[in-house]
Amino acid sequence: MSTAWETVIGLEIHTQLATTSKIFSGSPTAYGAEPNTQANLVDLGYPGVLPVLNAEVVRMACKFGLAVNARIAPRSVFARKNYFYPDLPKGYQISQYELPIVFDGELQIETAAGDEKRIGITRAHLEEDAGKSVHEGFSQATGIDLNRAGTPLLEIVSEPDLRSASEAIAYMRKIHTIVRYLGISDGNMQEGSFRCDANVSVRPRGQAELGTRTELKNLNSFRFVEKAINYEIERQIDVLEDGGEVVQETRLYDSDKDETRPMRSKEEANDYRYFPDPDLLPVEISEDYIAAVRESLPELPDAKRKRFVDDYGLRPDDAGILILSLPLADFFEATAAATAAAPQVAANWVIGELSAALNRDGVAIADSRIAAGALARLLDRIEDNTISGKIAKEVFEAMWDGEGSADDIIESRGLRQITDSSAIDSVVDAVIAANPGQAAEYRAGKEKLLGFFVGQVMKETQGKANPAQVNEALKRRLKAE
Ligand code: ADP
Ligand code: MG
Repeated sequence: MSTAWETVIGLEIHTQLATTSKIFSGSPTAYGAEPNTQANLVDLGYPGVLPVLNAEVVRMACKFGLAVNARIAPRSVFARKNYFYPDLPKGYQISQYELPIVFDGELQIETAAGDEKRIGITRAHLEEDAGKSVHEGFSQATGIDLNRAGTPLLEIVSEPDLRSASEAIAYMRKIHTIVRYLGISDGNMQEGSFRCDANVSVRPRGQAELGTRTELKNLNSFRFVEKAINYEIERQIDVLEDGGEVVQETRLYDSDKDETRPMRSKEEANDYRYFPDPDLLPVEISEDYIAAVRESLPELPDAKRKRFVDDYGLRPDDAGILILSLPLADFFEATAAATAAAPQVAANWVIGELSAALNRDGVAIADSRIAAGALARLLDRIEDNTISGKIAKEVFEAMWDGEGSADDIIESRGLRQITDSSAIDSVVDAVIAANPGQAAEYRAGKEKLLGFFVGQVMKETQGKANPAQVNEALKRRLKAE
């Protein structure tokens, strides 16, 4: 990528709030119901009905605001954003415009180089989602499913502080982690509960003024956000280097072709004719209310990561992986608390074997086939030298397959480690006797051959000999002659 250009990115993230009912009505918000069974007269905007604000969304927005060090507006106002689209039967979307509930926040991300970087959060405002157009199963027609109409969204708008696709992803991941820690969104990207529009521009490096941006719509996976942004950066640089100009427009990312293409330009942009919604009162929030919400905040990802490093002595990178998912972090803590093994060992197994098994079989950690306490017993058997780390992997797989506890499997499969030094010595002697050539080379100074001998002893003992003892015995016996 050309270094003469600097990329500028700002993200608008739409987070579906995890309420049981809609933002202005009592209809349920559950995903996947039969089309048009979860929209009532308020969601459809029938005349004569009035929206009533769901108090829970206010609490959730405040939680988010406090978690990103933002200011909570003492007074915010819902506005009507007017436009025509089949999935919006009211003819307007209720959103917040001039006075959002959350503003002036920030987030620290880690850049690819490992540095901390502050990303400003301009605002986060509440709004209702629209319905959905359905194309599948129709020919010469489009279906409309209004179940999603009125589902609460928190739109989180960043400052144009991001400088690359990887920074954008780091920022988006962090927001994703925070909303799930707060319990305000399930963050399910396949179901559209967490999606983002990326605003992208480039400018000559060193220029203060921002370049003309395009807006990439509705990116619903981290991978697509990254690919769409990178494609768009290249495209804009090509346009500018060919002497052209970037047109301010909305573009759609096509994941099949891995390209973006125009959707609508600024000239065709809607004039939304925003005005305060006369059916809704302004939202007024007191200091006491904010203090109470602050009290209710859980430990946040940054604090948890620091605690994992400080209190458990974990490697920072491993702590960073564990805290990405609250259930994974909790699983690690439960394992570490229940085992005599070092916390870093527990972390290695949770990040390594356990995560691999969960991914391989598509199992959520909540449904893990090995509970934290059971994993802790396995780690105890490594710690007390009953089995080696290598044999433990075999035991882990058997536990995962439902063969029983670590102890049961070690007994039934006869995996107990050989720690009897006379037993080890006799295998070591036999191996040395069977390989006189290598033994002579070792004694002549080719110490690399120790690995060969260790391998032979392990083979003879089906991996059950204690590795430290084997090493010690080999060195002793090979020197002896
Ligand atoms: P709009 O409401 O028209 O989409 P905003 O000014 O609210 O515009 O900006 C939306 C997003 O676009 C924000 O995240 C902002 O940081 C980002 N943004 C604004 N200007 C640029 C630019 N020139 N390049 C990249 N991102 C930009
Ligand atoms: Mg926008």
